[in-house]
Amino acid sequence: MLENGEQKELGQKQEKESYIRAENLKKLLINLREKLIREAKEEIKKFKGGEKKQIVESVMDDADLSVIDLSEDISLKQLSAHRETLIKIDEALRKLEEGTYGLCEECGEEISVERLKIIPFATHCIECQEKKELLEKIQQSEELL
Ligand SMILES: [Zn+2]
Repeated sequence: MLENGEQKELGQKQEKESYIRAENLKKLLINLREKLIREAKEEIKKFKGGEKKQIVESVMDDADLSVIDLSEDISLKQLSAHRETLIKIDEALRKLEEGTYGLCEECGEEISVERLKIIPFATHCIECQEKKELLEKIQQSEELL
């Protein structure tokens, strides 16, 4: 049984840790977002001249790629992939505000920052992912039998 003081201290420590985690994840997502916007801008630079280019560029400055779909001349797969990822990032940032980003869908535990660095949209922690993959492997081999 912890003394009241110790309990409070523990609570504060946990609070501080989850704050640091949230800040790290926020940085991670924002960096990713900036990188994607930079890459998308590079893609757009490949379109030389024309009114549409300017429209797209001014849109890119606001980091809103929604107009790109309306632009008939630009149907770059890569751009739309960037756009989808940006939407995912915005979603993740919103979840982060709510405190639900980076939680394992299976066990509800926090997914490690290290893992999220590699897979920002991971939905499972390493343990559950491995279990899931193992189960899938078993299922596959059963199907083969
Ligand atoms: Zn899990």
